[in-house]
Amino acid sequence: MRLVWSSHARKRMAQGALASVGAPLGWLLLEWASGVPPFVSYVHNAGLYSYMLFGTMLVFSAFGFYVGNHEASSWALAIRDPLTGAFNRRYFEARLTEELARFHRNQQRFALACLDIDHFKRVNDTYGHATGDVVLRGLVSCISQDIRGLDVLARIGGEEFFILMPTIDQQDAEKAMQRLLGAIRAHQFTIDSGDTLHITISIGLTMLRENDTLPALMERADKAMYKAKQSGRDRLVSD
Ligand code: GH3
Ligand code: MG
Ligand code: MG
Repeated sequence: MRLVWSSHARKRMAQGALASVGAPLGWLLLEWASGVPPFVSYVHNAGLYSYMLFGTMLVFSAFGFYVGNHEASSWALAIRDPLTGAFNRRYFEARLTEELARFHRNQQRFALACLDIDHFKRVNDTYGHATGDVVLRGLVSCISQDIRGLDVLARIGGEEFFILMPTIDQQDAEKAMQRLLGAIRAHQFTIDSGDTLHITISIGLTMLRENDTLPALMERADKAMYKAKQSGRDRLVSD
């Protein structure tokens, strides 16, 4: 387990520290129930109360740190694809569902892009599956650097990815995807032998429409991507 100040660890430590108040408070109540007024009990046992408070706080906070970090790594495993580090399908669909609900509240539209590597079988056939994996990781790193911080990249299938772009209009989404096509086209993927290779991708883009369901939206992006393949690859098709 990595020892990091993850937000989960911070939250659990704070909860542990808060819970530690229960130890001296519980003792104070017991004393009270047996007839000793709280103030008298505290004055006579100030050292004991401090020990109960700070000792328990230390132990509970340390335990909170351990539990929180454990939670953080389990959470990362649950929502990320192990090969590339992109989000997985389950997380992505949950995020899409949230975005859909947000749209129903405030009419905030979003764009969805479907990406597939062109002729990826050739990469595997020429350089081997392990090199194909290196390219997949490199692609995710390249896309992650190119998209906005609030966009969500997920690996949906073998070499098929989706990008959710919240709060964007069609024109800006198209610009962003054209820029991404260019970035991938220009990127040199370094493989284990030290050689470099180039790949291209095909992208299908669609905007959320009124009365859209999640499957309909994803299918539209997927179909647009196939149109990009049919019309020559290394391009964007919007629907
Ligand atoms: P197209 O331009 O039509 O998309 O051609 P393509 O060769 O990319 O065809 P397709 O998308 O059907 O092929 C996907 C290939 O991706 C087949 C499979 O061997 C490879 N692939 C899928 N998952 C992985 C993976 O995790 N690692 C590697 N190395 N290859 C994978
Ligand atoms: Mg492909
Ligand atoms: Mg494919």
